[in-house]
Amino acid sequence: MARRMLIAGNWKMNGLRQSLVFFEEICSIAGSRSDVDVLLAPPATLIFSAAEIAGPVKIGGQDCHNHPSGAHTGDISAEMLRDAGASCVIVGHSERRADHGESSDLVRSKAEAAQAAGLIPVICVGESESERRAGKAEAVVGAQLDQSLPENTAYVIAYEPVWAIGTGLTASIEDIAAMHAFIRSNLPDGPNTQILYGGSVKPDNAADILSLTDVDGALVGGASLKAADFTAIIAAAP
Ligand code: PEP
Repeated sequence: MARRMLIAGNWKMNGLRQSLVFFEEICSIAGSRSDVDVLLAPPATLIFSAAEIAGPVKIGGQDCHNHPSGAHTGDISAEMLRDAGASCVIVGHSERRADHGESSDLVRSKAEAAQAAGLIPVICVGESESERRAGKAEAVVGAQLDQSLPENTAYVIAYEPVWAIGTGLTASIEDIAAMHAFIRSNLPDGPNTQILYGGSVKPDNAADILSLTDVDGALVGGASLKAADFTAIIAAAP
């Protein structure tokens, strides 16, 4: 079976209740592209309201704790995300790995917790600029995959070179193609696993990136906060 396209938006720490108005515009585009899955990960405070109006758009969390409940002040469990209406959760985003010191082992346990709660984890991997310059991009991403992936292969991978996130820089088409092929060949269920590219995906570069054989969609940060840009990226899916 062919892998479906998935366009995912990560709002990060942005969005108030008034931001939900543009969901309707996204929903109408998503509805007109039944061949493309659309996922939005708003901040946790908006998940419940977003899920109520999302229609065909899937709603995701941006992180979850690796335990189902307990004395973890300020954290949110996968079960809580599911209860609020999420069907997916991003884990191992480079901002969590950097800002919160999250290791690949922790990312794996979060992915397992997500699966146990009935969520699909979107597991992020990607090298830093210095690692790429040193020729270590594949070694770094390979190690992240080794340590971050749960045994259950019901997950999505997002390849996000750290230096391309929020910088306006994107990896070259050749580098994206090579890294996605590398990742697929290192996955236990490579032919059936969706691999997204993330890192400054915009309306003007989306078509080229999304047309690559091993790219099954995009994880979009900044451009997912603008309805026109995000819907243009959905429309650019081949
Ligand atoms: C991201 O947050 O995962 C991301 C890719 O951000 P941006 O599109 O802004 O680079």
